[in-house]
Amino acid sequence: MSQHDAEAAVIGVGSIGSMALWRLAGRGVAVHGFDQFGVPHDRSAMGGETRMFRSTSPREPVYVPFGAAALTLWRELEAQTGRELLRLNGELVLGPASAAHIVNVLESVRAYGLEHELLDTEQIAARYPQHRVWPGDIGILDPNAGYLRPELAVLSAAQRAQELGAVVHTYTPVLRVEIDADGVSVVTEDRTFRYGRVIVAGGPWVDRLAPELAGKIQVRRPILVWYAADDPAAYTPERFPIALRPEDDGFYAFPSLDGATVKVGPTGPFKQVVPDPDLLERTVGIDEVRTLDAIVARCLPGLHPDPVRVSAHMDGYTSDNRPIAGFAAGTDRVVLLGGFSGLGFKYAPAFGEAGTELLLDGSTTFDLKPFAPDRDLAAWD
Ligand SMILES: Cc1cc2nc3c(=O)[nH]c(=O)nc-3n(C[C@H](O)[C@H](O)[C@H](O)COP(=O)(O)OP(=O)(O)OC[C@H]3O[C@@H](n4cnc5c(N)ncnc54)[C@H](O)[C@@H]3O)c2cc1C
Repeated sequence: MSQHDAEAAVIGVGSIGSMALWRLAGRGVAVHGFDQFGVPHDRSAMGGETRMFRSTSPREPVYVPFGAAALTLWRELEAQTGRELLRLNGELVLGPASAAHIVNVLESVRAYGLEHELLDTEQIAARYPQHRVWPGDIGILDPNAGYLRPELAVLSAAQRAQELGAVVHTYTPVLRVEIDADGVSVVTEDRTFRYGRVIVAGGPWVDRLAPELAGKIQVRRPILVWYAADDPAAYTPERFPIALRPEDDGFYAFPSLDGATVKVGPTGPFKQVVPDPDLLERTVGIDEVRTLDAIVARCLPGLHPDPVRVSAHMDGYTSDNRPIAGFAAGTDRVVLLGGFSGLGFKYAPAFGEAGTELLLDGSTTFDLKPFAPDRDLAAWD
């Protein structure tokens, strides 16, 4: 039997991989992490200052247990590192009562008995004048929602994993992962490493290391835009919960962290497809933000609808908008975690834990059936 460099490895120490690394190291496993860039970095899915966390789900109730588990794990990581990573300043979900996201949030609330508050149009206008409301709008306030600090979270998980004995190879692209009867070879330009088991968490690049996912991941380029506030005091975390109004021309918004600007992102079909994640276009053109500027002018009247800062990122999307999480085809040595389709950060430690359980125990307490890598996913063109 060939000599192993360590018991396990995680390829991609990004949002999900850093958490898997931390969970594996916490189980006492000798583990190596590999990233093609530094840890953290801003060249893929994790950058841009903040990520939303919520306990409800505007998509499907299937995510609620992941939110609950993630909350516990975020708190555990904070306790272990002494850093504030998640601030629960609430979420205001807005829209007409019949809108799909409102129906879905209420379904998740009912299915799991989640804490929430329902607001009618007048109550929203009185309590949150930062938002323009229209007759028939309702608001759902989730007190167990808020914002994460993604860069600090990834750094914290990776550092804590290293304190627990993990080794991180930065600026080390993995070229291939090869599985055989004795273990897994992780091939880099300089040398081939050997492990018993591997988690592949390559984000927008995940299909390059998992040929079975070829064509099943579409890389898209969400942008983030910061707008100056007339009265920044109205947008502090205490007064301005994270917000979601994802109708056709929809947006999400965060409280001001710099006391001057508010970050807004578009939820509509404005995400460009990225043909090659190595060539992410990081310049955001004026034309790209015009639609969001108009949404801001219409829905967030206290913000100047001229961007003062922009950034471009990317994520891998599946055709059913659900992540991929499970064993690679025909092996129990490699777990794939990818295709997080714009929702993964909040659940990162939960998927890191699920991947760890699967890899070490052969099964997991999480329901990963909806995320099976071999489910019927349409191929992208
Ligand atoms: C702009 C934007 C806003 C978002 N907002 C939210 C939000 O508010 N809330 C939320 O929950 N989610 C949000 N998401 C989604 C969430 O951020 C992603 O789903 C999540 O970060 C995906 O994590 P990942 O680990 O799959 O990818 P990444 O974080 O990109 O990590 C993948 C890592 O793998 C490395 N890698 C890839 N291939 C190799 C290789 N061959 N060798 C070595 N290293 C490799 C990469 O360098 C990278 O570090 C948002 C996404 C974007 C882009």
